[in-house]
Amino acid sequence: MTSDSEFRPVQPPVYVSAAYEFASLRDAREAFAQREAAFTYARTGSPTVALLERRVAELEAGVGAVAFASGQAAIALTLLALAGRSGQSPDGRAHVEIPAGHVVASAKIYGGTADLLNDSLAESGIGVTWVDPHQPQAWADAVTERTRAFLVESIGNPHADLPDIPALARIAHAAQIPLIVDNTLASPHLVQPAALGADFVIHSATKYLSGNGTVLAGVVVDTGRFSPADHPDRWPQFTAATARFGDTPLVQRYGERGAVLHLIRAKYLHDLGPCLAPWSAQQVLEGIETLDVRVDRHCRNAEALAERLSTHSAVHRVRHPSLRGDPNAALAARDFPRGTGAVLSVELAGGFSGVERFIDSLRLFKLAANIGDARSMIAHPASMTHCRLSSELRTAGEITEQTVRLSVGRENLEDLWSDLEQAFAAAGLGTDDAAPAPLGTETLV
Ligand SMILES: *Cc1c(COP(=O)(O)O)cnc(C)c1O
Repeated sequence: MTSDSEFRPVQPPVYVSAAYEFASLRDAREAFAQREAAFTYARTGSPTVALLERRVAELEAGVGAVAFASGQAAIALTLLALAGRSGQSPDGRAHVEIPAGHVVASAKIYGGTADLLNDSLAESGIGVTWVDPHQPQAWADAVTERTRAFLVESIGNPHADLPDIPALARIAHAAQIPLIVDNTLASPHLVQPAALGADFVIHSATKYLSGNGTVLAGVVVDTGRFSPADHPDRWPQFTAATARFGDTPLVQRYGERGAVLHLIRAKYLHDLGPCLAPWSAQQVLEGIETLDVRVDRHCRNAEALAERLSTHSAVHRVRHPSLRGDPNAALAARDFPRGTGAVLSVELAGGFSGVERFIDSLRLFKLAANIGDARSMIAHPASMTHCRLSSELRTAGEITEQTVRLSVGRENLEDLWSDLEQAFAAAGLGTDDAAPAPLGTETLV
């Protein structure tokens, strides 16, 4: 769908229309009854967004995808569809007396996902048990009657932790539960969770897929493994007839490979409304075209900085799987042959005032709550992304006052290193008090 207009543009057209016209009342009736696929109103789909959905589905070796206004919306609506209360009701209607589902999730996870599960989804009745991504047995032990999803990040935020995805997939599938993998930090260039057993793959496309820090976007991909019809009692939202979907089960109307995405789109995206704007979809489509070269550059910069930081006297510990001796190195070698991304955490030596002076002295690294931007960014998780976590969850996530997260960008490596060194010196951290080096000329910003 890149040249469907008479002008044959090589770039996909951006269709900016809130509504789509029907040729006849008959066509409108069939579309609204969801007997025929059509764009009706852009909250549930539009051509530019649909193209993005197809491209991400292909990149992730999936059978289909739904795009959203943000990664957060992708996670929220996917969990509502799989674990929401309606899914526990035998006749597909919400019964307040029936408890909603339960999610087993990695304790080393993006702070926004933790907020979502601890707060908003908890209030809607969805339970959560946080477990260590490195202990597959803990996941098996956390499964209850009500568990409807496992949720893990392919590369954890902020410590670049790697879970054993095939091991978690085996446990999930033995318990007849789908495994959702948030592949935001890796991107499909570094790992395809579908090949490792994931049932659903989620992206905050805000990050590496778009790649320039311009727009927010999210996507969920169905990899085509999940078969709700194998266990109809467990998944009435897909297997039971409901008035909302014409008294026909979704698996019957759309097949096993279409039922979950249809529920997400036609019920949750329609009812709650976090739809992706076509302009934003276009930015992500453009970003995807350079995904491989960009991510390779991010990885090489991050690996070099991780290596140099790991021997710097101002640094207590660097976590990145590319480092020799990192606890994730073996999984990195097995599942991530091209690298493990450009987010790394650094435990600084010295007290919090030194950490604060260091952060405030940086010039190239921007103090900002984002990752996957062209520009390098630093964050202090305890004050920023993870500030709402309970102290237990922060301890489980190994986030201290000395932890800083780097999202390494695509600038010149020596410029980045000079910036870190001058900030260490300005903060009085470490003993390598090099004078601030002049910035080079290749800097991107
Ligand atoms: C940023 C992020 C999200 C949330 O995505 P938004 O696009 O910011 O809503 C979810 N998961 C991970 C791993 C992220 O980094």
